[in-house]
Amino acid sequence: MPAVKRTATAAETPAAKSAGAARSAPAKALDRLGLTTPIALALHLPMRYEDETRLVPIAEAQAGRSAQVEGTVTDCRVEFRPRRQLVAHLQDDAGDELVLRFVNFYPSHQKALAAGQRVRVRGEVRGGFFGREMVHPQFRGVGEDTPLATELTPVYPASAQLPQVYLRKAVAAGLRRADLSEVLPRDAVPAGLPSLREALFFLHQPPASAGLATLEDQSHPAWQRLKYEELLAQQLSQMQSRRERARLKAPVLTRRGGGLHDQLLAALPWGLTGAQQRVGDEIAADLAIDQPMHRLLQGDVGAGKTVVAALAAAVAMDAGWQCALMAPTEILAEQHFAKLVQWLEPLGVTVAWLTGRRKGKARQAMLDKVASGEAGLVVGTHAVIQDDVHFAKLGLAIVDEQHRFGVAQRLTLRHKLQAGEATGGLQMEPHLLMMSATPIPRTLAMTYYADLEVSTIDELPPGRTPIVTKLIAESRRLEVIERIRDEVVKGRQVYWVCPLIEESESEGDGRGKPLSELSNATQTHADLTAALPEVGVGLLHGRMPPAEKAAVMAQFSGGQMGVLVATTVIEVGVDVPNASLMVIEHAERFGLAQLHQLRGRVGRGAVASVCVLMFSNPLSETGKQRLKAMAETNDGFEIARRDLDIRGPGEFMGARQSGDALLRFSDLAEDSGLLELAREVAPRLLDAHPGAAKAQVARWLGARAEFLKA
Ligand code: ADP
Ligand code: MG
Repeated sequence: MPAVKRTATAAETPAAKSAGAARSAPAKALDRLGLTTPIALALHLPMRYEDETRLVPIAEAQAGRSAQVEGTVTDCRVEFRPRRQLVAHLQDDAGDELVLRFVNFYPSHQKALAAGQRVRVRGEVRGGFFGREMVHPQFRGVGEDTPLATELTPVYPASAQLPQVYLRKAVAAGLRRADLSEVLPRDAVPAGLPSLREALFFLHQPPASAGLATLEDQSHPAWQRLKYEELLAQQLSQMQSRRERARLKAPVLTRRGGGLHDQLLAALPWGLTGAQQRVGDEIAADLAIDQPMHRLLQGDVGAGKTVVAALAAAVAMDAGWQCALMAPTEILAEQHFAKLVQWLEPLGVTVAWLTGRRKGKARQAMLDKVASGEAGLVVGTHAVIQDDVHFAKLGLAIVDEQHRFGVAQRLTLRHKLQAGEATGGLQMEPHLLMMSATPIPRTLAMTYYADLEVSTIDELPPGRTPIVTKLIAESRRLEVIERIRDEVVKGRQVYWVCPLIEESESEGDGRGKPLSELSNATQTHADLTAALPEVGVGLLHGRMPPAEKAAVMAQFSGGQMGVLVATTVIEVGVDVPNASLMVIEHAERFGLAQLHQLRGRVGRGAVASVCVLMFSNPLSETGKQRLKAMAETNDGFEIARRDLDIRGPGEFMGARQSGDALLRFSDLAEDSGLLELAREVAPRLLDAHPGAAKAQVARWLGARAEFLKA
């Protein structure tokens, strides 16, 4: 299989579907794949090709390779050893023999392969015990002069309800009807690349002479053109939204010597790391400009992003504006709230607290404080962006773990600053600071976030002892439980994370987890309670009522509980520095980023911490690679890089940025040269040929272009 990464959906706005008429199963399957317009079909590229243009003499067919041969059946019979199977012997014109073997077969097979029939056969050649053979080859009866194909046969990504033959016809029709006219001026295309039309026709219907190798490794100029087109559209749309943003107004928030920012800094029990200082300055510089900031603050787990956010909030409040901090889960929001109250209330700031849990009068009281401006800082979950939340003057919006929020949610937050008294009647947007512990490799930042400034905390606070990660087979579970006892006896605390049962991770506060995950956690909780009677063991899972969750979390962070059994609700942000052992059960089921996040819950204080990744055999190849990566490095950037290697950028982003455009054809690691070119060309094109830029974006991103602006 060539390394083709691609989503099944088309890049266009789905065209009006043929109304009324009942659609056939394959037609419906096309719809489901998003192949509803000519251009979508034209962009549905083969994942590989079959060469039916040549016949190979049996004597030259190489074991392990696919080949097409032709000959006459000399013998065909059902054999019963080692099991029931149909075995046919084929002899080509040179007199060499090939055995055809079918374990599953029908009477029609026997008929078509009866002795004396001339057949054309295609399949992988094996060097069998009794000479060359093919198992379950494709075959068809031919005459002496049945012509060979003149083009390579494309094989498309399809589905069970969608036969290749049907799809081939649909794609060929789409290719003929799609508007593939050139929209780019000559100098916007690298020399030596074919037009889009030529490239697509070539890739769908390559001539027999086309080298399969360059097609399959995608180095062929036709592939290059396609990738370039896509990267260029991506860059254009990102740069366009950057320019649009630059025309928007935002409040000017200047850092004042001796103000709230400096007071907070002075009150902290430790000094900032150099990296924290640097990113703090970068943020402050953005805030002081009358254009909305759009900055991503990234830093490994435990790097200390929260205090940087608090300092930015202090700048905003000092300038007389409000700040909102939104976190994806109640637990995380609660922790932020506690920390920010501790830091800021002594300095005279009122911090409001908004979550879905808070209802009725208490909620109304908070809403009033937000609307009047009494609350300088508002912390909460999605509750912060509900319609009934009105800010007096929102100057800065901070989103923690931003990848857990959808584009629409970030947009809503940005629209929470209304034109009015506070803005002098002007339409303004608040500054936006996004935070993430999942670092984005540079090339990804360049494409997906060309519309974003990035600040990186690349240094951990001093005094941390690196986490030691151990891979331990499930069969040694009892030893692991003994380890827990040792740890608790030393006064330390332990997390035990229960396995992910389903891929579908729930949103928000984690309600709606599959029940099996819950029953598993409950069982483990019971087991550990029984095995460690002298130790307090708590249970935390997504189906618990929020109040109960908060209570358990409070007990654990307060040290009244030695062990916390949890589902992945603890994944993000939880900060209990005394926790020194993390056990992750069935670690092979988790993604790398998630494992890294989970592991980051320990090693947050000075004590040496251990992360035990328990796994069950047999391990898949990627499962093995992931665990190995975890054992080898603690560096989130390195982990992200390996994740990219293991999964490819499409999926890498897919898991994080649902809703944002994925690259279907380009591979950021391999196509960095084309990416650089696209980055260079995009601004020129926007200036000199705005119409062409628009057409390019529309063709490739369609309706999703709007979406990219958040
Ligand atoms: P993250 O970047 O993962 O959100 P946090 O903001 O939760 O990290 O910080 C992790 C821990 O490090 C917290 O307990 C925090 O108080 C502490 N911390 C942050 N900055 C420093 C610093 N400069 N020196 C010492 N400890 C720090
Ligand atoms: Mg955090």
